[in-house]
Amino acid sequence: MRIVLLGAPGAGKGTQCKRIAARFGLLHLSSGDILRQERSQETELGKKAQSYMDSGGLVPDEVIVEMMAGAISNAPLSGFVLDGFPRTVNQAAELDKSLSRAGQKIDAVLNLEVDDDAVAKRITGRRSCPECGAVYHIENLKPKVDGKCDNNDAELVQRPDDTLEVVKNRLENYYQQTRPVVDYYNANSQVCNIDSNRDVDEVTKLVIEKLESFASV
Ligand SMILES: [Zn+2]
Repeated sequence: MRIVLLGAPGAGKGTQCKRIAARFGLLHLSSGDILRQERSQETELGKKAQSYMDSGGLVPDEVIVEMMAGAISNAPLSGFVLDGFPRTVNQAAELDKSLSRAGQKIDAVLNLEVDDDAVAKRITGRRSCPECGAVYHIENLKPKVDGKCDNNDAELVQRPDDTLEVVKNRLENYYQQTRPVVDYYNANSQVCNIDSNRDVDEVTKLVIEKLESFASV
């Protein structure tokens, strides 16, 4: 199975991708993780990406696509689930081209649908432990003691990226750049929308059911 998971920032893509990968034995390919890896290993692509980031720009589509195509070519026969990629229509089209050269295609596209208000609440409510990295939420995933990490009692903090201002910017970017990717795949009627305003375990159940029905066809 070759799966793309789409959704706004804060829709829970990372968590769901991990669970999909574990359930179906797929490789979880997170563009964020892969970019970090390439940069820390100072590969050719990593250095190229770094130079764009150093000058304050975005990493261009062709660099991202080449990086992801490389990761995809190492995926097991069981397949992969893409997380955070494709982020633009251009990336989606390039991905299709690259796959078709290998006689492959995307089999399923899941779109996690979540209201902007819910996204804002999820992200601004996040608190994390500066020492062990554990993540909590002031409403949905409270620590045992208010404001303290369960693991080491450290004072929990809000990451600078998790403020309302930053969330609004990220959502704006999403609607401009990434939301059109849903329409791109919809043109081939590949998109399955999942209501993700609910509890994370309920979303997982819906996602797995969809993919199971798909896999059994
Ligand atoms: Zn901790």
